[in-house]
Amino acid sequence: MICNKAKVLMSAAVDGELTTREEEELSEHLSECPQCREEFQDAKNTKIIIQERLVRVKAPKNLVDSILKMTTAIP
Ligand SMILES: [Zn+2]
Repeated sequence: MICNKAKVLMSAAVDGELTTREEEELSEHLSECPQCREEFQDAKNTKIIIQERLVRVKAPKNLVDSILKMTTAIP
């Protein structure tokens, strides 16, 4: 998984909105990405909303859109 998608999942996880599959994907990514692990800790602590985080990492807008579509398409 790419870090930007992991960040989206993290934000949803903070809000308790992840599906079981997403939770598995996220923890799999966190187990191999210390940077995101730290980021997730931070997210849980501060509960910064997704948009602010995405702006801060300066993801290309079309990438952000496709990530959001990807995650919102999952019930
Ligand atoms: Zn990562």
